[in-house]
Amino acid sequence: MKVIETIDAFRDARRRAAEPLGLVPTMGYLHEGHLALVRHARAENASVVVSIFVNPTQFAPTEDLATYPRDMEGDLEKLEREGVDLVFAPDRDEVYPMGFDTHVDVGEIANRLEGQHRPGHFRGVATVVCKLLTIVRPDRAYFGQKDAQQCMVIRKLNADLNLGAEIEVVPTVRDPDGLALSSRNAYLKPEERAASLTLSRSLCLARKMYDGGVRDADDIRSQMRNLIESEPGARPDYVSIADARTLDELDAVDRPALVSLAVHVGSVRLIDNALLP
Ligand code: AMP
Repeated sequence: MKVIETIDAFRDARRRAAEPLGLVPTMGYLHEGHLALVRHARAENASVVVSIFVNPTQFAPTEDLATYPRDMEGDLEKLEREGVDLVFAPDRDEVYPMGFDTHVDVGEIANRLEGQHRPGHFRGVATVVCKLLTIVRPDRAYFGQKDAQQCMVIRKLNADLNLGAEIEVVPTVRDPDGLALSSRNAYLKPEERAASLTLSRSLCLARKMYDGGVRDADDIRSQMRNLIESEPGARPDYVSIADARTLDELDAVDRPALVSLAVHVGSVRLIDNALLP
């Protein structure tokens, strides 16, 4: 496994890499969710590239960029064990050199949900993913369903700018008790870890109501909110039931829907989602 920090050196190595090539973009502090993406990429491609870059432009000034967990040594050990060929780990100045001033804004789909609650977030994500897809030129790029809206934004970016990758979405990996794996789970204190189960529980409640025949989206949203608010350590940021294609909020769950939510647990903000039916 080769670890490369500059774009020039990466392009050199890319020319010699076997095809097809799969890319897994990450911000590091790798867990089994990330490794599921790597395993899909390994199974489907002749070469696998993992990028590790904590992208500053997708964090608002009030967010956790400075404290975002990092463990490059541990990450490289995990990737070596998975048989990854190349790790692209540029520093901030390599990706955003002095004078950098071009940004990618994906339209409507990026203005909803996370885009509405974290202004500028998807501009940062789209810009860095556009750069990664341009530098790496993968045949396939792998993303997690855990960040469902991010997957939609990236599909749109890839299609609209003809970036030419196949975008593959991998199911969410969870702890046995239901909590979706996230690098940010490392921040949770023991009592917050328990409170964080309210996310997956409220998604289970939505599915149970849907399976029981409920189609009134407001009814499902309000029951989910009640469940979250009954947990003293948890405060919902949003609870959404939206058209899975457009992310327009639904009145009736009469078409494929994305149920998604963001919840503050202590100082940590967690997201999760599920598809209905
Ligand atoms: P991050 O390092 O948080 O930017 O995540 C890198 C990639 O891993 C993104 O495509 C995420 O959607 C994906 N990912 C993160 N957590 C999970 C999970 N629990 N299951 C599946 N994929 C995940």
